[in-house]
Amino acid sequence: MQSIYDYTLEELKKIIKPSFRALQIYNWIYKKYIYSYEDMKNIPNEVRNELKNKYEINILQIVKKEKSIDGSIKYLFSLHDGHTIEAVLLLMKKKKISEEGIVQKSEQYTVCISSQVGCKVGCTFCLTAKGGFVRNLSAGEIVSQIVKIKKDNNISEDKSLNIVYMGMGEPLDNYNNFVQSVKIFSQEEGLSINRKRQTISTSGISSKIKKLGLENLGIQLAISLHAVDDKLRTELIPMNKAYNIQSIINAVKEFPIDARKKVMFEYLVIKDINDDLLSAKKLISLLNGIKAKVNLIYFNPYAGTTYKRPQSKDMLVFQEYLISKGLFCTIRESKGLDISAACGQLKEKENQET
Ligand code: SAH
Ligand code: SF4
Repeated sequence: MQSIYDYTLEELKKIIKPSFRALQIYNWIYKKYIYSYEDMKNIPNEVRNELKNKYEINILQIVKKEKSIDGSIKYLFSLHDGHTIEAVLLLMKKKKISEEGIVQKSEQYTVCISSQVGCKVGCTFCLTAKGGFVRNLSAGEIVSQIVKIKKDNNISEDKSLNIVYMGMGEPLDNYNNFVQSVKIFSQEEGLSINRKRQTISTSGISSKIKKLGLENLGIQLAISLHAVDDKLRTELIPMNKAYNIQSIINAVKEFPIDARKKVMFEYLVIKDINDDLLSAKKLISLLNGIKAKVNLIYFNPYAGTTYKRPQSKDMLVFQEYLISKGLFCTIRESKGLDISAACGQLKEKENQET
């Protein structure tokens, strides 16, 4: 069955008559976070009944929630067929200076969402990959993660937030539903999340990066690079055999980026595997000519992996080298480390406990 979250407003207007009802429903689901047709007071009974029979509304259930000491909250959602996915609400405090010159702290929300149950790509460092691929999420299942999290945290309808497609799954392997979710998120009459605030992270399916670029959606791009030579990258990300580093770089060069933005290259740092200065040097030459920024990520270990978390001093040396060569480089704070924040890790914990 389709869900009510699967549609853009234009589409909903075509299937619900009279069409102003579509706008009312958009208001209920995306501004008031209502997920029961009974509560839609201004919709006549017969319309509500018809909708109930055709479009599911309460499609995700929170089965587990873990709060980290830094304020991040990790969610485990169950889907209608019993499968589970994860999403994380990340909180960042931002300093803002008011017009009177007073320093104010404001909270900035970022939500990390999943695009698939499991993943086909099979990265050797990733817990999501261990369970194999189960199925794609529908556009509605992607969208509903944000609605549930906004409601659960009483985040007001007009508070802007950032979305990162960095949870479970490879968004470009679920191309159509992913693109549809971007369109629904940015719908002004709904969640109204600017496309500049939406970042897709991909393991680098070059052909689909090109395709996405041609759609000119106005979203941000992050590439999970993790290695600077094809031999190591293929060990970490087997799909690199089909889409090697150069093919990714070529696709990125064609991707339309906002004049003030950069493409993010994520570099997962694993102790003694890719944390050396020679790799940093190669990274510089690889990214030459691209408006790039690098985000270094600490490998987050889990039971059964032989990979190790890098030492902080090696991370800093790596970062300083990139910065000294003029590259913008940050280290991803281990937000929510105490709540097993890397992708797939909460789900795994649930499996061990049950
Ligand atoms: N499939 C997409 C998006 C989801 S994975 C992609 O690979 O980009 C999101 C990020 O989580 C990726 O950059 C991935 O490298 C990272 N990740 C996976 N396992 C991790 C781990 N154990 N520790 C830290 N980061 C991890
Ligand atoms: Fe899939 Fe991303 Fe995990 Fe690789 S890192 S297996 S692409 S979710």
